[in-house]
Amino acid sequence: MTDSGESKTNAWNTPDPRPDLAFPKLTEEMVERLRSYGREETLPANVPLFTRGERQVDMFIVLDGEIDVFLSTAHGESKIIAHHQRFDFSGELNLLTSQGSLVEARTVKESRLLRIPRNELQKLMRAEGDIANLITSATIWRRIGILSEETGGIVLMGHANDAETTELQRFLIRNNYPHRIVDVPAEQVSLPDDDMFDHESTLPAVTLSDGRTLHRPTITQLADELGITELPDPEMIYDVTVVGAGPSGLAAAVYAASEGLCTIVIESTAPGGQAGTSSKIENYLGFPTGISGQRLASRAQLQALKFGVRFAISRETITAEQVDGIHKLTLAGGIPVRSRSVVVASGAQYRKLSVENYGQFENRGIYYAATAMELAFCREKDVIVVGGGNSAGQAAIFLSGVAKHVHHIVRGKSLASTMSQYLISRIESSSHITLYTHSEIVNLEGGSSLESVTWINRKTGESIVKPIGSVFVMIGAEPNSGWLFGTVRLDKKGFIVTGGTDGFESTPYATSVPGMFAVGDVRSKSVKRVASAVGEGSVVISDVHRYLADHRNNFAAEPNSALAALRSASAEATTQS
Ligand SMILES: Cc1cc2nc3c(=O)[nH]c(=O)nc-3n(C[C@H](O)[C@H](O)[C@H](O)COP(=O)(O)OP(=O)(O)OC[C@H]3O[C@@H](n4cnc5c(N)ncnc54)[C@H](O)[C@@H]3O)c2cc1C
Repeated sequence: MTDSGESKTNAWNTPDPRPDLAFPKLTEEMVERLRSYGREETLPANVPLFTRGERQVDMFIVLDGEIDVFLSTAHGESKIIAHHQRFDFSGELNLLTSQGSLVEARTVKESRLLRIPRNELQKLMRAEGDIANLITSATIWRRIGILSEETGGIVLMGHANDAETTELQRFLIRNNYPHRIVDVPAEQVSLPDDDMFDHESTLPAVTLSDGRTLHRPTITQLADELGITELPDPEMIYDVTVVGAGPSGLAAAVYAASEGLCTIVIESTAPGGQAGTSSKIENYLGFPTGISGQRLASRAQLQALKFGVRFAISRETITAEQVDGIHKLTLAGGIPVRSRSVVVASGAQYRKLSVENYGQFENRGIYYAATAMELAFCREKDVIVVGGGNSAGQAAIFLSGVAKHVHHIVRGKSLASTMSQYLISRIESSSHITLYTHSEIVNLEGGSSLESVTWINRKTGESIVKPIGSVFVMIGAEPNSGWLFGTVRLDKKGFIVTGGTDGFESTPYATSVPGMFAVGDVRSKSVKRVASAVGEGSVVISDVHRYLADHRNNFAAEPNSALAALRSASAEATTQS
C-alpha cells in the first residue's frame, strides 16, 4: 500500500497486488526469536494445516519442506496462490481477526514446521515489533492479492439496484471481504404466481465458502457467519470499551491497546463511520493527494488489530448502565459487555432530506460540506444549498464565488429567525444567489451521479426543474446518542456534554458518568472533522489511564486485564523497595 494515497485502484479501492511485499521471508535470527512462541512439528506430505472457513487458525513457519495455499475458484476448483518454502510463513489478514480462513493450506512433502498457536501469536505481535510489522504488512498485501482474484471469496446473488443487495455488498466492501456478485435480473425471478413469492423471498442470497447458502441474511447474520464480528467475552471485564469505529473510536482503540489496555470496539455497521463514506479526504494531515475514508479506516483498524483490539462489528450498543463502578453495556440481541471505562465515539449523522433516490446520490451530487474540494464540482454551474441556518448561509455565499448560480432552498417563510443578519444581507445583495422560501426538493434524477433536481413551493404549488448536479444539504446533524438517553447529560440537541466546567472530572472529555468519556462528533461543541476526531480519540486515553489508576482499588481483582498487571507491578515494586 503506498503512502501517497490513491494510486491505482480497482472496485475495492485497493492498489494492485504486490507479491514481493505479500511474501517476505523471515530471517534466521527472527525464526530463532519466534521459536519461544511455538512448537516444532514434522508432518508428512499432503496434510491439511487449515481448511476454508476454519477460524482462529495457527501460523506456520516452514523450517524445512513446502506448503501450498489454495483458493477456491468459481467452479468449485482450487487454485494455488502461494507456495511457502524455508522461512516463509502462512496466513493472511485473518491471522489478525476472527474471520474464517478464505484459503486452505497443505504440506507438499514431508515438512518441519514451527506452529505458532493463536494466543501465542497475539503475545508475539505485542512483543516483537519488527516481526509484527512484517506480518501485518504481509497480511494486508495477501488480502489485496485475494481481493484481486475475481473468483475467490463468497458469492452474493441478487438484483442490481436492489437495496438489500446493495446494503450487503456495501458491508462486504467496507469490511474488505472478498466476494463475487452474481446479478440475477428481476425478470428471472418473475416466475408463475405460485413460485414468485418463494423466489422473491430468497434473494439476495449469499453462498459461503463451505457451500451453505444464506437467503436474505441480515448484516448481523452475515457478519457472524464470516467471523467479521468477534463477540465480547461474557467473563471478561475490559479495561476500555469504545463505542463506534469512526475516526475517533479507531484512534482511541489504537492508543488504548498500544498502551496495554484490554480494549474492545463495538461498531453497529462497519469501521470508518462517516469518514468511511467519503471518497476522498483531502484535509487529513500527511496525505497530500487525499485518501479515501475507507482506506484510512482499514489502515486504522489493522493498526488496532495488531495491538490486539477486539472488534464486535455490526453490533449496536443499545443501553449503558454502571453498577458498582463497572459499566455494563447491552448490545443488540441482549449481548452484555462489562468494562471499567467507556469511550463513547458514536458520532453523528447529517440530517437527510426525505426524497426518493436520495441515498443513490450521496457523495455523487449530494454533499454535506462546502469546502475548496467541493468547489471544483461547482465551477460555472448552477448549484443548490438547502437549509436556513448559518452553515447553509456561509455555504451559499462561499459557493456563489465560483458557481454560476446558487439556488438557496428553505422550508420556512424567511431566513430571519434562523440566520445571522450579516449573512442574510449578503445573500440578499448577491446577484448570484436566489432564495426560495416555503420550498422543498421533491425529486432527484440521474445515472451514476445527480443530473436533475425538482423543487416545489408548498405555498403556491409552483414546481421548478433544473439540470443541477450538486446539492449541499445543510440542515444540521443528529448525534448518535439515543442509546445514552437518561444515562449521561446531553445538550439540547442531544450531543454529549463533557468537560470540567460542568463539574465533571477535570478533563475535556469526561461525561457526567464517572469512567465514561466522549470524543469526536457525538461530543457537544466538538469540531466536526476527521483530524479533530482522531486527535480527541488519541488524547482521551491518557484520561482513561488516570481514571483507571485513581479507581484501581474500587475494581474487584481480575486476572484478565492490564489493570491487574499494573496492580501486581506496583505491588512488586512496593515489596522490592
Ligand atoms: C460524506 C462525508 C464526507 C466528509 N468529508 C470530510 C473531510 O473531507 N474532511 C473532514 O475533516 N471531515 C469530513 N467529514 C466529517 C468527518 O467524517 C467526521 O467529522 C468524522 O467522521 C467524525 O468521526 P467520529 O469518529 O467522531 O464519528 P463517526 O465518523 O460518525 O463514527 C461513529 C461510528 O459510531 C457508530 N455507531 C453509532 N452509534 C452506535 C451504537 N449505538 N453502537 C455502536 N456503534 C455506533 C457508527 O456506525 C459510526 O461508525 C465528512 C463527513 C461525511 C458524511
